[in-house]
Amino acid sequence: MKLRSNIALCSTLALTLIGVNAHAELAGKHWARKSNPVMLRVVDSVTISWDAAFSTALQKWSESPVFDLNVVSSDDSATTREACGLIQGQLRVCNYTYGTTGWLGLATIGVDANGHIDKARVRLNDSYTASWSVTGQRNHVACHEIGHTLGFDHMSSGQGTCMDLTQDLASQWPSLANYEFLLALYGHADTYNSYAGATTTTSTTTSTTTSGASTACTGRNKKTCAASAFAASEEPSMGVKVRGDKKGQVWVSPRKDGGIWIHHVDLVP
Ligand SMILES: [Zn+2]
Ligand SMILES: [Zn+2]
Repeated sequence: MKLRSNIALCSTLALTLIGVNAHAELAGKHWARKSNPVMLRVVDSVTISWDAAFSTALQKWSESPVFDLNVVSSDDSATTREACGLIQGQLRVCNYTYGTTGWLGLATIGVDANGHIDKARVRLNDSYTASWSVTGQRNHVACHEIGHTLGFDHMSSGQGTCMDLTQDLASQWPSLANYEFLLALYGHADTYNSYAGATTTTSTTTSTTTSGASTACTGRNKKTCAASAFAASEEPSMGVKVRGDKKGQVWVSPRKDGGIWIHHVDLVP
């Protein structure tokens, strides 16, 4: 629509119009943790054609001392993969024929009101069969989209990392520079853990969820628990495009709990 294309020209204005603090930095987003590594739970919602790229990407990112990405559950029914619902404190990776959306991969991170990532998902679009027949492309895109959920933005072409947008066999996996970036991004300690499986926090500004969706909603925790279950089931809207070029775009929308959704959209080459 007309308004959208106009406001997309100015990211600060766009963010203000959707109620997001104009000074909120989109870069530098990371999972909150009291110490490294982030023992991030991953839900496997990919089918067999993606298994190798998915599991190798998790393994490669886990070579960083900052992350330990572990598949804790799997559900690859078509219904689940299509919805690819977000889970509090976890990362879900899905593939599906999402249609001719224009994107090969779409990574969405939920950022809590304190500015930390607290849920994420990756969607891989099987509708572009020609793209997936390119050697190394599944590896590149799986690694790339998962990288967005750890805190990476795009890197310029030809840097030998999956975070660049080069269709090159040298750009299938993380680079040493990526691991160094993670060490810097996660070089401080936070006061709470925003990923699931963490111990209960004493911070009053965070949810008391201790194990994501599996927490029982009983007794005095009921209200907080119900609120967090609601947040977990919220389907993010795309919001407004705050930047983009012919390869990728970033969209932002407000979350019902005061946080924001950030979408990294990777276009079909
Ligand atoms: Zn932090
Ligand atoms: Zn991207």
